[in-house]
Amino acid sequence: MAIAKKRTFIIDCHVCKAKVAAIETGRAERFSFDDEASLPYGNRVFIGNCPSCDIILVGESDQIDFENFDAYEDRWSDVVRVFPNPSKSFSSWRIPRVVTDSLNEADRSLQAGANIAACVMLGRALEALCRDVLESKPTETETGTETASPSAKSKKRLMLGEGIKRLRDTKVIDDRLYDWSQQLQAFRNLAAHPEDISISREDAGDLQTFVNAIVEYVYDLADRYDEFKTRALNRAMRKKN
Ligand SMILES: [Zn+2]
Repeated sequence: MAIAKKRTFIIDCHVCKAKVAAIETGRAERFSFDDEASLPYGNRVFIGNCPSCDIILVGESDQIDFENFDAYEDRWSDVVRVFPNPSKSFSSWRIPRVVTDSLNEADRSLQAGANIAACVMLGRALEALCRDVLESKPTETETGTETASPSAKSKKRLMLGEGIKRLRDTKVIDDRLYDWSQQLQAFRNLAAHPEDISISREDAGDLQTFVNAIVEYVYDLADRYDEFKTRALNRAMRKKN
């Protein structure tokens, strides 16, 4: 009896922190034709287990090239993990789109093994956070200068280094989060310049955890605490009446 060869798909295992050839146990696929765009469409979802740690992995891939349509042979995108999806999800509606988009992009880069690109995106997320939180607030030097000319107001945009210092000075983040931010800034600066460097998956993964923690602290936990205080206040008011 011939032994059937096990089918595999290459996917990022977040437990092993590596690309693995997951043992495929099932797949679903769909092919159709988008009449409006006059383009074919192909999508696959794979399910399987990590060969090393055995956790269940589910990934998705889109068809990029189509045989006999625009290419000699079919070609598919790299498989992106959709379960378990450790990319952090946040609850606050105040988080700007540019922050979440950058975090998602960083996660995809990490999964693809593009650690330098991931660091650039994490830096972008934190810089966007700084601008969102700080640019709506006047700085100390600006207060009392209501007659400032419009040109003075359209000053250059806040950069990451100055942003994280001001976040600490205005007590939006504490010293520990400030240390993490400085590490990220150092890696981001390395990553953004065309130097011959390499950043390990482990380091990039840790920086992702730090940025997620900062976003959670600045938005989600602050919202949560506000709601908590409002409930306590309402209870106190009801008791009074
Ligand atoms: Zn694994």
